[in-house]
Amino acid sequence: MSSRPQNPRDAWQAMVDGNKRFVSGHLAHPRQDIDHREMLAEKQRPFAALFGCADSRLSAEIIFDVGLGDLFVVRNAGQVIAETILGSLEYAVEVLGVPVILVLGHDECGAIRATIDSTQGNLNSQGEFIHNLVERIRPTVEAANKAGKHDIDDITELHIQDTINELLTRSTLIAAAVKAGKLAVVGANYKLTLGEVRPIVTVGDIN
Ligand SMILES: [Zn+2]
Repeated sequence: MSSRPQNPRDAWQAMVDGNKRFVSGHLAHPRQDIDHREMLAEKQRPFAALFGCADSRLSAEIIFDVGLGDLFVVRNAGQVIAETILGSLEYAVEVLGVPVILVLGHDECGAIRATIDSTQGNLNSQGEFIHNLVERIRPTVEAANKAGKHDIDDITELHIQDTINELLTRSTLIAAAVKAGKLAVVGANYKLTLGEVRPIVTVGDIN
């Protein structure tokens, strides 16, 4: 990518291309050199924001084969919306002008597994705030169970959809950017073994 993608379609395509390189093992490692680092010091212009799980296997820049200044990354366990997350993503859209927000979950997510365990009365944790985090994923697990879905992969996909719904409901700034065609929000699931990012839901136009 010689110039920064300007619109949702080009930005998403850059991420798709980078993930394909990662999956195949033919990495380009772009924009990680000293010249680029120094050039960026004055100003960042990332072409996408990524809100994903904090899982150590979900390293944002590695799985999309991008470099310094490319992604504005916000992560926590189980990619759970909070006011600070919304503020960070609004900053990425309003100030940095990113044309894409990617919400990225993954298979075998510990936070979702912990929530499933919790709904079954099996969560062994002393952490007050771990319980707080689990409580935020719990409505998705309970809704899934009511619909007859108990598989962690199904629940993970529902959680990604619910996260995007919450993002667009709570942030009028982000919803307005989507409506204006300046922003697309993509929800995707990352496959740990394959290294593949699979889109599940898209709000806005990336075609
Ligand atoms: Zn996770």
